[in-house]
Amino acid sequence: MHKRNIVSLVPAFLLLIFCAEFLPLAAQQSGSATEHRKLLAIFAHPDDETMAGALLAHYAHEKGTGVYLAIVSNGEKGVMPHTRYSPGEELERVRIKEAECATHTLGIHAPILLGMPDGGLNNVRVLAELAAKLKKTIAEVNPDAIVTWGPDGGYGHADHRLVSAVVTQIVQEMGKPRLFYAALPKSRMPESTSELRFPAPFVATSDQYLDTRVRVSRDDETLARKSLACHQSQFRPESMERISDLTEKVDSGVAYLRSWSGGKKRTDLFR
Ligand SMILES: [Zn+2]
Repeated sequence: MHKRNIVSLVPAFLLLIFCAEFLPLAAQQSGSATEHRKLLAIFAHPDDETMAGALLAHYAHEKGTGVYLAIVSNGEKGVMPHTRYSPGEELERVRIKEAECATHTLGIHAPILLGMPDGGLNNVRVLAELAAKLKKTIAEVNPDAIVTWGPDGGYGHADHRLVSAVVTQIVQEMGKPRLFYAALPKSRMPESTSELRFPAPFVATSDQYLDTRVRVSRDDETLARKSLACHQSQFRPESMERISDLTEKVDSGVAYLRSWSGGKKRTDLFR
């Protein structure tokens, strides 16, 4: 080969090395190149994604949409009476596997685990660390929309409420992306949810605030039901059935959400 031709190949060779070194990381951070829009769900524990299971399955199967799930705590203290797992590392390992099973079932990306303390967010330094980790995650995923707990935290769990507050704080500071709270419509909720045997009743949102309603299919609901079944350390099979039955009855083919900054523009608090 002529010497001048070899020299002309050097930039191409260097580019090849650069690509081999850096592109896999870039591709991993930004998701598949075919994703032209991204949804990031942020919840407190493995199994919380159940609150938006059908919605996540719905978008996972929309062409060009990447769906991500960030889980704040690995739920290492969530010991339930029907299992024999020890709190700490053993239960953490089990629950990470369950979260991976759930994301795989829903057809979304593998969970992003933030490893914050289970039941231990109520501390100013811990909350600051959580905010920093969530900002980094949001910057890396670069979502167009985020779904998280509303201020109710479903049934009022302190970790759920705090995750909602920190995610809201970050979005109100950044001015993006769109933020939605997963919600239960008041008009469709049964008088009591005591049959679910959660520590406190589930809290509904008045229908007038549910400005975002996404149609989900029977297949999406089926995937949500299957993904809940991954969380065997948390629920007996009959409890999973009860939760899925009630969710499907309340939602009936619609995922209800409240957009955090929704509603008409106002110039007065009372008009
Ligand atoms: Zn939870």
